Amino acid sequence: MTRGHRHGGDLAAGAALADLTPRELTRWARRRAACPACRALEAELDGVLAELALAASPRLPPPSVLDGIRAEIRAQAEPSRS
Ligand SMILES: [Zn+2]
Repeated sequence: MTRGHRHGGDLAAGAALADLTPRELTRWARRRAACPACRALEAELDGVLAELALAASPRLPPPSVLDGIRAEIRAQAEPSRS
């Protein structure tokens, strides 16, 4: 069960980024439960991502981006008025 697959790979990266489809998540959960190497890899990726998040300086989007998002939300909340 623990042989014949690439340890971690795309699924581990996706899991660390919380970017898996429900189906992939199921596959990953099964694999992780059966394979210590995959669990270790996921823990390692989590650590790397946490360090990256700390190392990266916070960046804010330009105000125009937020304005655009707010306008879009308003437009969807009030479809009759545009
Ligand atoms: Zn594995």
